[in-house]
Amino acid sequence: MQSPDAIAELARIWKRYEGDPDGAIRAITETAARALKTARASVWLLAEDASEMTCVDLFEAAENRHSSGTVLTASDFPAYFAAMLEEETIAAENAHTDPRTSEFSATYLAPLGIGSMLDAPIRTGLRLVGVLCHEHVGGPRVWGLGERKDAAFLASLASLTLELKNRAMREALLAATLESTGEGILASDDKRVLAYNQRFLDMWKLDAKAMRSLDGVRGHIAARTSGSGLASQANEAFAGEAGETVDVLELDDGRVFERSSRPQLMGKVVVGRVWSFREITAQRRTESALRASEAKMRDLAILDGLTGLFNRRHVLELLQEAIDRAVAAGERLCIGLVDLDDFKKVNDELGHLVGDAVLRDFAKQLTQRFRASDHIGRYGGEEFLIVLRGANTAAAVRVFEEVRTGFRAREFGDLPKYTFSAGISELGVDGVDGTELLSRADVRLYEAKRTGRDRTFGGA
Ligand code: GH3
Ligand code: MG
Ligand code: MG
Repeated sequence: MQSPDAIAELARIWKRYEGDPDGAIRAITETAARALKTARASVWLLAEDASEMTCVDLFEAAENRHSSGTVLTASDFPAYFAAMLEEETIAAENAHTDPRTSEFSATYLAPLGIGSMLDAPIRTGLRLVGVLCHEHVGGPRVWGLGERKDAAFLASLASLTLELKNRAMREALLAATLESTGEGILASDDKRVLAYNQRFLDMWKLDAKAMRSLDGVRGHIAARTSGSGLASQANEAFAGEAGETVDVLELDDGRVFERSSRPQLMGKVVVGRVWSFREITAQRRTESALRASEAKMRDLAILDGLTGLFNRRHVLELLQEAIDRAVAAGERLCIGLVDLDDFKKVNDELGHLVGDAVLRDFAKQLTQRFRASDHIGRYGGEEFLIVLRGANTAAAVRVFEEVRTGFRAREFGDLPKYTFSAGISELGVDGVDGTELLSRADVRLYEAKRTGRDRTFGGA
């Protein structure tokens, strides 16, 4: 085999075995056996720690047969392993007597009738990764310079093939890794898409063709997230420098993605970014449903179902808090107990539903007239408790009287005209705690009823 032949051979093997490195290795052992006219040719792979080597392919010309798998260990054949690591081509004219190969004599060479060996190192870069062996069946043999060159050439071909096989395996592993996650993954530098997985395409409803342009992918993501005002953020994030980021994207179709990114570094230089997208729509929905039901539970616990005012328990709690605060700050505080007049009549004459509507109407009137800092609660059936913070008796009476006299002029619509009576008490004047205040207000409310209803009674 001469150089032009060699180049042709190279071209032939590469063309024919593209994507099939194992086939290429078999072609190399066959070519080696034919070119050097040996009975056997084989490619061996050296373990990384050089403790053993494994036969990747053995071609036996007479039987036209390929096999693989034999393992030779450095501990069994120390002289051979040492020679392989230290020397260039091992040309053992008489393999039985050559000190580098004689340890094979009894167990390996004699049974197979091998008399001579030519082993060429397979290297990637400077590192020895294996060996291409030519085994001559018969007596000793002299290996010519041309034969040694051919062996070296075929060994370099084997090196390239093994390297390609490694790379194919790495790529397959990377692809499998990318597809093994439920997250959508995109890797890019600042100009190009470097890698992505199927899940990414599915999540963003993109196809492989769209992935050819990073700008196109950016534009697509920005457009899908425009509703949430995150378009610029989407672009900014793509341009991000070092550091990891996590944010949330709300898509125009209602889905929610959590996006995290980390820089891809070579040394200390950022050469790209890896983006991962995790769909959290269901999780988001559960969270907001949970928040809504928590809020509802809270409402149920503190609000009165008919009027929407605070219930008795809660307005009493608020009264206690307001008293504590007023005492601490030296501020005034009044309460008003209110009871609708002749309400039984409303129920009796117009029915309970109209009675309910009147209660709701009254609650609305109170809510409109009192300050947000005041507390209004339904104290009993048609009795209400109002806590007026920062008010003395005169001010409290004034507010109740405004509401009460306002009722004379107001429209009642479909509801019957109704009135109410109120009793007021003041903190520090009528009592020092809630119980005392409530009892004084109740006495005054009773007085208001007794003296004719539709009036407000305060102290002094
Ligand atoms: P007074 O002026 O002395 O207060 O007379 P009154 O008829 O209002 O007498 P009282 O306060 O004793 O009567 C309260 C009535 O309120 C009795 C009850 O049927 C009615 N009531 C209590 N809670 C509700 C309710 O939730 N809905 C309706 N429709 N009526 C209620
Ligand atoms: Mg009443
Ligand atoms: Mg009552």
